[in-house]
Amino acid sequence: AAPLLRVRDLTMTFPGKRSLTGRRSAPVRAVDGVSFDLEAGQTLGLVGESGCGKSTTGRMLVRLLEPTSGRDISRLSQSALRPLRRNIQMVFQDPHSSLNPRQTVARIISDPLLVQGWSAADARRRAAELMELTGLIPEHIDRYPHEFSGGQAQRIGIARSLATSPRLVIADEPVSALDVSVQAQIVNLMERLRAELGLAYVFIAHDLSVVKRVSDRVAVMYLGRIVEIGDKKSLYENPQHPYTRALLSAVPLPDPAAERRRERIVLLGDPPSPAAPPPGCTFHPRCPKAQEICRTERPLLRLAASREVACHFPGD
Ligand code: SF4
Ligand code: MG
Repeated sequence: AAPLLRVRDLTMTFPGKRSLTGRRSAPVRAVDGVSFDLEAGQTLGLVGESGCGKSTTGRMLVRLLEPTSGRDISRLSQSALRPLRRNIQMVFQDPHSSLNPRQTVARIISDPLLVQGWSAADARRRAAELMELTGLIPEHIDRYPHEFSGGQAQRIGIARSLATSPRLVIADEPVSALDVSVQAQIVNLMERLRAELGLAYVFIAHDLSVVKRVSDRVAVMYLGRIVEIGDKKSLYENPQHPYTRALLSAVPLPDPAAERRRERIVLLGDPPSPAAPPPGCTFHPRCPKAQEICRTERPLLRLAASREVACHFPGD
């Protein structure tokens, strides 16, 4: 079957900033040739440290940002009558700052419907239904965001994202800003909604533990590029890229004995600035396996152990 979403060579270059002396810094390639497919009803976990381009990728998919090149969204635009924007919606990291504090929940959730020409009464009815669907109390429809906890506010954000019945939701670190005790509830809610509504997600996170449960496939990003992408099970059990191995070594193991035994890979230094990426493999200054070729030749994504890996020396 054709994928729901086909992304090819997605690229985002931000112009350099002009300093007080009028000089422009180098442009920043925040997203550099990202490609992946997503099937209907599936979840792709998109993981990497802050600044790796994962949020920028998400924002291009919902067109909050226009890419500088690439992308093929043909699968979503087959039905010309339903614009892409309705089919892809976004849930943001900080629920409170993503909700207008001066609008009631009724207004926040029904806004995308009013834009589409729904009557106020129908939009309000649908907003109440969406509150119920996301575990909120519909009687609270005339309250303001500050009257809700962080977890409830994220439920409002999720309800808003579902108003137009999208097929794909981009969730940009949807639980990172929430108390640990609330995170599982929101993840459970998103899983239930996926099953009930047949949704697909791109679930963005900064570590591999959060996406483990929700993802069917996982893509690991480093400095604007996907360095490893594949089926969740094989990626967690047998990571091929040294960066994936390092990220994975930071995920706590449920069994305490196994947790004590396992080796932790500590990466040296911070990710380099995307304004001045290292030559060759951009991971080489931090890679425990780096060889001479890594300093000069950029590894391309290619098949290794049933997934795609961008490394000259994948595996152990
Ligand atoms: Fe490390 Fe070389 Fe692989 Fe890059 S290409 S991840 S530096 S081994
Ligand atoms: Mg981000």
